[in-house]
Amino acid sequence: MYNFNYKKPSSISEAKSIFSSCDDASYIAGGMTLIPTLKQRLAMPSDLIDLSSISELKSIKVEEECITVGAMCSHKQISESDKIRTALPALSNLASMIGDPQVRNRGTIGGSVANSDPSADYPAALLSLNAKIYTSERTIDVEDFFIGLFETALNEGEIVTKISFPICEKASYKKFPNPASGYAVVGAFLSMKNDIIRVAITGAGPKVFRIKQMEEKLSKSFSTDSIKDIVVSHDDLNSDLHASSEYRSHLINVMVNRAVLELT
Ligand SMILES: Cc1cc2nc3c(=O)[nH]c(=O)nc-3n(C[C@H](O)[C@H](O)[C@H](O)COP(=O)(O)OP(=O)(O)OC[C@H]3O[C@@H](n4cnc5c(N)ncnc54)[C@H](O)[C@@H]3O)c2cc1C
Repeated sequence: MYNFNYKKPSSISEAKSIFSSCDDASYIAGGMTLIPTLKQRLAMPSDLIDLSSISELKSIKVEEECITVGAMCSHKQISESDKIRTALPALSNLASMIGDPQVRNRGTIGGSVANSDPSADYPAALLSLNAKIYTSERTIDVEDFFIGLFETALNEGEIVTKISFPICEKASYKKFPNPASGYAVVGAFLSMKNDIIRVAITGAGPKVFRIKQMEEKLSKSFSTDSIKDIVVSHDDLNSDLHASSEYRSHLINVMVNRAVLELT
């Protein structure tokens, strides 16, 4: 590691004001991605601004229509919240499948969403459930939030404060995990509300995406049979040492089928 300044604000406004007074600051949440990045010298911020003492980033609120989760809630908190498990069990299940116990203890939903890793699990839940991302400046619809590989709509110094998930009737998340890290080689989140189905895929492409053709077919007839002929072209899918783009295309159908079967 190299030297950097360490700051621990207790409010969002203090965090923002420190950020703007520094040369090249970076927020740190769970540090699960940022610390390895610093160790590898892929980033060398002058100042680290630790968000862990900001209590307003840590609450979980479950209302009749939606669940709102503070950005600094850990994956463990989300997977173990009785309120979330009752209202939206697929979200608790997703959180319980992330990484390993150490990662779930430290990693946060805000850090995951801000990082926009193409293999992260939460983006599939956000897109399928049509979530809203609240920041220190504004509210962003999920469709406008994930721009590309490790790229979001967040501006310099903008802080994700909370994420709000509309509650649906049924939902399921199925993933084919990388056996070492747990990251999604392909993950499919399927949600159903008022006969509208939304299918969001993570891990397969440079960013999370929906498969509208599957959504339309499933909305008319909710069965694996109705989507059996749909093939997602592998042209725009990721290909790496973990899986070829052709294999990822195949896994998309397998994961969506598993989700459909769970909900049937
Ligand atoms: C071994 C390992 C296995 C993993 N497996 C999985 C997996 O299976 N599935 C999965 O989805 N993820 C996985 N992860 C990722 C992990 O779960 C975290 O979500 C991820 O590391 C980011 O969260 P963090 O809280 O650690 O963020 P940090 O590492 O602290 O920050 C990441 C980035 O987000 C920025 N940031 C953090 N919080 C905010 C905020 N509130 N507002 C604005 N910017 C912010 C930081 O400045 C930084 O650029 C894994 C990580 C590791 C190390």
